[in-house]
Amino acid sequence: MDRARYDAFVKTFFECDPVAVTDVFREFLAAMAAEEALPPGHHMSQNYDTAQANPEIHLLPGNLKDARDAIFPYFWGTDGWSSKLHLENVRGPANYASLIGAIACLLKNPNLCTDSYSQRSNELEVKAITALANLVFYHTQDPWGVFTIGGTISNMYGAKIGIEKVLPVAMRKGLQGQTVTGICSEAAHYCATTISGWLGIGTENLHEIPTDAALAIRLDLLAAKLDELYQRGSKVAFVIATFGTTDAFGIDDVAAIRKLVDEKAAQYGVPAPQLHADAAVGWGICFLNEYDFERNLLQLSPDLKPVLARIHQMCAGLQFADSVTLDFHKTGRGHYPSSAFIVNRKDDLKYLARSKDDTPYFPEADSRRDPALFTLETSRPGLGPYMVMASLNGIGLQGWQMLMSRSLELAHYLKQRLDKLDYCMVLNEETVGSNVVFWVLPKGRNAKQIFAALEAGTLPPEDAQRYMAEVHRLFSKRERALDPALDARLSFTTGIGYRPHGHDLPAWKAVFFNPKTDEGVIDRLIYSIEELV
Ligand SMILES: *Cc1c(COP(=O)(O)O)cnc(C)c1O
Repeated sequence: MDRARYDAFVKTFFECDPVAVTDVFREFLAAMAAEEALPPGHHMSQNYDTAQANPEIHLLPGNLKDARDAIFPYFWGTDGWSSKLHLENVRGPANYASLIGAIACLLKNPNLCTDSYSQRSNELEVKAITALANLVFYHTQDPWGVFTIGGTISNMYGAKIGIEKVLPVAMRKGLQGQTVTGICSEAAHYCATTISGWLGIGTENLHEIPTDAALAIRLDLLAAKLDELYQRGSKVAFVIATFGTTDAFGIDDVAAIRKLVDEKAAQYGVPAPQLHADAAVGWGICFLNEYDFERNLLQLSPDLKPVLARIHQMCAGLQFADSVTLDFHKTGRGHYPSSAFIVNRKDDLKYLARSKDDTPYFPEADSRRDPALFTLETSRPGLGPYMVMASLNGIGLQGWQMLMSRSLELAHYLKQRLDKLDYCMVLNEETVGSNVVFWVLPKGRNAKQIFAALEAGTLPPEDAQRYMAEVHRLFSKRERALDPALDARLSFTTGIGYRPHGHDLPAWKAVFFNPKTDEGVIDRLIYSIEELV
């Protein structure tokens, strides 16, 4: 080998040149600032046509600028979601404390599989998980958990523990012809279906229970379903309670579900299913748990007082869950991926445990702390713990309270504005989060009356169909007319999860996740609706 050439190449790519690295970083920041001056949306259109045709790899070793050039058009063609006009979904711009954490992590690049490959970064994961566990569970003695690549996978951990609880040999022997089932609500995230398929219980063995108008699982129907399943001899492995549905922020009553599943399991003499709370979106409202409205340090509007009282009550239910999913990359405005899976009692992780014989690469692994002995993943990034601890402590409890209550304020304001328009109907009046789902019908229609008739079951199906089509048509009309520099971007859902008399409820959707969104954006949205209909 030509050693001189080799050494030069190693120097370029494996020795940190702070000037070269920060120069490129500065260029990215400048490009981002330029991009943020433009209206939201894609600034450079995609070119899928030849993406596969030209998968070129350069021949000669280059430098960090070649690395930059290789990805720059794609960087430029990606919206960083910083605009205050983005209201489409549970996605916010990532916060910069999280970036500091992420950069620190990437510089060291720990692998969280075991202590040997991550040293103090594993300790940081324990810290981050415990901080989040204390936030959501209130009083918890012995929580434990890991960061995963997303809410889907975190929920999968919860479901898997449930399968092992009701069918203890499943990890080794499979399901052995047994019918194993899971339960969630009709408003739960579709990943519950994904998980049921991937875990091998089958998507048809996931039972979705209707919700009430507040998007919370109907406890009477849950009880009936448990009876039905137990009487058929099926093993109910998990109940996923949704804490904040993705579209409408519905919250299941976790405490009541706990009581119910324990009673039914005792009645049929079987192990209770895993009660897993999918708080991927909803966990953030726990920051408001201890907000003292009497002192009202943040000067919140008195309108929010009843909202905070309900939040307090709902959050208190979380401590009854066996495990929880919490997406920091959603409500925490952290970078992807930073989803946490947390068990209330560390002992429950024994259901996932492997023996050292099963992990020959890690003979040194210590079951008291090394995640590789129970995680689905082997290599795991350290990003989650770094981004979470940097964000939690950079922003601080009052910072989080401001962020969360501002979302509530804006959602409340939009609901109030829509309420005044006869042809509009807010579909999640009773939920307490950052989301607003609503109908816009042509002027002259009375949306509230139409909704009441639909709920009462007196609306003829062909009328219902026509009205739903109008809601969609007006949404498309606004999309076509919108001024990207002024008009908020919303999204459309084909069904918010509440299904009165089996009707899916399509809706316009606005989510207040961007801290820069203000009342002016909402006023302009209302104006655009009034112009439209
Ligand atoms: C987003 C979401 C998920 C899936 O989480 P990912 O991090 O996108 O995998 C699960 N449940 C709920 C309620 C969600 O909103």
